[in-house]
Amino acid sequence: MNTAVFDRRESVVRSYCRNWPTVFDQARGAEQVAEDGTRYLDFFSGAGALNYGHNHPALKQALQDYLAGDGVIHSLDMYSVAKREFLETFEETILQPRGLDHRVQFPGPTGTNAVETALKIARKVTGRTDIVSFTNAFHGMTLGSLAVTGNSMKRAGAGTPLYHATPAPYDDYFDGGTPDFLWLERVWEDSGSGLSLPAAVIVETVQGEGGLKAARMEWLRALADLCRRFDVKLIVDDVQAGCGRTGTFFSFEPAGITPDIICLSKSLSGLGLPFAATLLRPELDLWEPGEHNGTFRGFNPAFVTATAALREFWQDDALAQAAAQRGAQLQGGLERLAALSPGASYRGRGLLAGVHFPDTEVAEKLAAAAFQRGLLVETSGPDSEVLKVMPPLTVTEEELERGLDILIDSGRAVLPRAA
Ligand code: PMP
Repeated sequence: MNTAVFDRRESVVRSYCRNWPTVFDQARGAEQVAEDGTRYLDFFSGAGALNYGHNHPALKQALQDYLAGDGVIHSLDMYSVAKREFLETFEETILQPRGLDHRVQFPGPTGTNAVETALKIARKVTGRTDIVSFTNAFHGMTLGSLAVTGNSMKRAGAGTPLYHATPAPYDDYFDGGTPDFLWLERVWEDSGSGLSLPAAVIVETVQGEGGLKAARMEWLRALADLCRRFDVKLIVDDVQAGCGRTGTFFSFEPAGITPDIICLSKSLSGLGLPFAATLLRPELDLWEPGEHNGTFRGFNPAFVTATAALREFWQDDALAQAAAQRGAQLQGGLERLAALSPGASYRGRGLLAGVHFPDTEVAEKLAAAAFQRGLLVETSGPDSEVLKVMPPLTVTEEELERGLDILIDSGRAVLPRAA
């Protein structure tokens, strides 16, 4: 395996390649092929950027046609045909059917760009500085997003104090021992609490990087109510849990809430091209023209593949139904895996799920054993103690079963008491 140039020239900050020491070359659907011909089932899905699998033919064709026709590639935020088609399709397919009147802002093309935009507009509109985030949250690596991210190793990397963010307990942080939002409600009411009213609360409905805890719908509803009562803006970071990952296009849909601001990225382009959007209630869209700009906002090839993905997958509920079935199948398999290890338990929702192990060494060993057997899965949580399994939403029943068999087999090899 030739990795000399990576060792010689690529920054040591690289990380995924350390867990999967091979050189990938081709990919289709739920599978990646290394240059030595080894095939891997990919239940990592680009950390959620490949919800429709690798190189989906309809999406790839749309891009190929666009390139062949010399479609404009780069145009900052000028009007383009590709942008018009995306916005019209997004409006008809996603926003209108869900009764959402949000405006669509295109920030830079990554998740953290969508989050920075959300934090900035919430502060501008309210004139307040603080943001409430949750324990074990993950919102990205730039300074604003890092300030609302929990992980201490990632925070330390900032090299500068991270300001104006207050962590609050996520759902079930005290194992049901404390009523939800007791603390937030008290300190917001109490003008002597020392904590000023925040501009916004930012929340993930399932904590993708922080350990796969899934918030209960009633907890999300109570949070939305609390925010409304105190006129605190509610930001749902749907960068990882959105675009169908938990079964509905937006992960908060089953809770029946309407966030003030919604962050999307990862699978929005469908094909894995960089792309992000921050959705704002119209009354929050108070920017001056150009006040928040950037060179790569709304990349036309990503508009094209995103439009193709909406047409292919979101004009009916076939994908959502299939994903619900696969989600149930995944939960069953993960519960079988958890049963091999005392104290281990299923976590997550839909196809954003995993197993929490009390022994913090286990999940990484399992992921390594799965790689040896031809399956890509990662870990999640502050101590990488959760095995995280994220197949494409388009995974077949047979592929999912094959991946689950590999996990059980890996579990039998790695878990001390599972013979
Ligand atoms: N928010 C959430 C919920 C995420 O999972 C991630 C990425 N893991 C981000 C934001 C940041 O996205 P990006 O890496 O594209 O900046």
